[in-house]
Amino acid sequence: MKVLSSYLCGAWVTGSTAAGLLVNPATEEPLAEIWGGVDLGAAMAFARERGGPALRAMSFADRGQLLARLAKVVHGNREELLALAVANGGNTRGDAKFDVDGAAGTLAHYAALGEQLGDRRVLGDGDPIQVGRTARMAGQHVWVPRPGVAVFVNAFNFPAWGIAEKAACALLAGMPVVVKPASATALVAQRLVELWAADGDLPEGALQLLCGPAGDLLDHLRGPDVLAFTGSSATAATLRQHPAVIAHSVRVNVEADSLNAAVLAPDVELSSETGQLFLVDVVRDITQKTGQKCTAIRRVLVPAARADEVCDALRERLAGIVVGDPARDDVRMGPLATAAQRRDVAEGVARLAEATTEVFGGTGAVTPVGVPDGKGFFLGPVVRRTDDAAGCHAMHDREVFGPVATVAAYRGDPIEAAYLVARGGGGLVCSAYTDDRDWVTRFVPEAAGHNGRLYLGSAKMAAQSPGPGTALPHLLHGGPGRAGGGEELGGLRGVERYLQRCALEGDASVLKALIDA
Ligand code: NAP
Repeated sequence: MKVLSSYLCGAWVTGSTAAGLLVNPATEEPLAEIWGGVDLGAAMAFARERGGPALRAMSFADRGQLLARLAKVVHGNREELLALAVANGGNTRGDAKFDVDGAAGTLAHYAALGEQLGDRRVLGDGDPIQVGRTARMAGQHVWVPRPGVAVFVNAFNFPAWGIAEKAACALLAGMPVVVKPASATALVAQRLVELWAADGDLPEGALQLLCGPAGDLLDHLRGPDVLAFTGSSATAATLRQHPAVIAHSVRVNVEADSLNAAVLAPDVELSSETGQLFLVDVVRDITQKTGQKCTAIRRVLVPAARADEVCDALRERLAGIVVGDPARDDVRMGPLATAAQRRDVAEGVARLAEATTEVFGGTGAVTPVGVPDGKGFFLGPVVRRTDDAAGCHAMHDREVFGPVATVAAYRGDPIEAAYLVARGGGGLVCSAYTDDRDWVTRFVPEAAGHNGRLYLGSAKMAAQSPGPGTALPHLLHGGPGRAGGGEELGGLRGVERYLQRCALEGDASVLKALIDA
């Protein structure tokens, strides 16, 4: 049986204690073992002593070139990575592409940003400010790399993109990375780092990989470090309270749960371009990656007069989704990633079922195609309905991280819609579908403060839309409240998480030369 090694201190090392088994979630066939018990203090010191200085000696343009090489490696090994994602992640080929191509695209985006930033090592933040009696005495805010380690603790659903989107920002900023992917789907992450270590021309200590439990990793965090976490709110709460995080005021960036809403405005006929965009987006988000996308639509708010029609349309479209072994070409939706994940989603559906009526899929029982009887962590698409959008606590209070959404009827008013969106407690993305500019003008100011991103679906943009579920490197990914309060991506904004802002005071010409250098 393959044992997943960790890439630490410039070598591939295997831990001392067995910590779990990775399986194919469609067949339950064992794929690899994961072991814990490696020396993480040494890895953190290696990052500080070797990786940090090497990266800080490079300019933004040099680090951009490094990202371009990493993107090329992902692209060049695409087929192998896709196959691993299908086997270990329960991904269809389309799901796997979303992860792997998303990784390459994000790295390429930040490579281009590095080129734009050029040969600088210090970035200006805003304009010079006269702080003395004459213009000679100036102040200038600048950004410099944080002289610590970027530690990533990642979720199971995007093993490739999850590393790439964080590493692109940290490496471009000049911080060395120690990444811990989720154990259950670590096969893709491990191979990705293996390929980068062989062909990426990474400076020594710039990127290390921990396969297995986090162990004492967080004990080694210090003031200049950054801890970036993606996963459940429950784990996020544990990490935020870690003694080293508190004692050293470690910067923490959290991407957690989100009850993303899609809102249909009353002007939209389902047969219109905007109405079709809405239906495509909802069905895609229920089924893509078996609903295990942090940005997936969970709550579907529709005007009461259209609720029956929307439910009929979803029923019709979901009936055509073939669930089964994602390695088959005819399968549109694979299993959930783990047995625990299936249990958790089934519990969530049961809770929703107490407060809602069935639209499609009952409580998720399904007979998957192409898998041995009784095997696999399958749950079919489920749509529930409530006509009491405000009173249905189950819909607003718990993220069911699977192919599950609830349709809720509202009166059609934009302020009411924004109030219902806000009931999710803070989200990553909310989508609204309308061609009524007055409606959108009233909705946006009320809804935007509760979300990291608002996606405004309309006939004019429908043909070019990637859908609300796609996190783009140009735009912010993160959200307030339940979503963790973090910010990632968004072009330079994501890089700033790994930079330290410093106010310089002195001779204006010296300050100018520093940021122009
Ligand atoms: P999880 O159980 O919280 O695990 C996330 C990561 O934390 C894994 O790498 C896990 O390691 C690690 N971990 C767990 N306990 C830890 C501890 N005490 N100390 C250090 N590390 C610890 O979440 P998940 O099940 O992988 O992911 C599903 C959740 O993530 C969903 O709630 C979803 O909303 C959220 N999510 C959010 C985003 C976003 O961008 N906002 C993206 C994807 C997922 P092991 O795997 O080794 O246990």
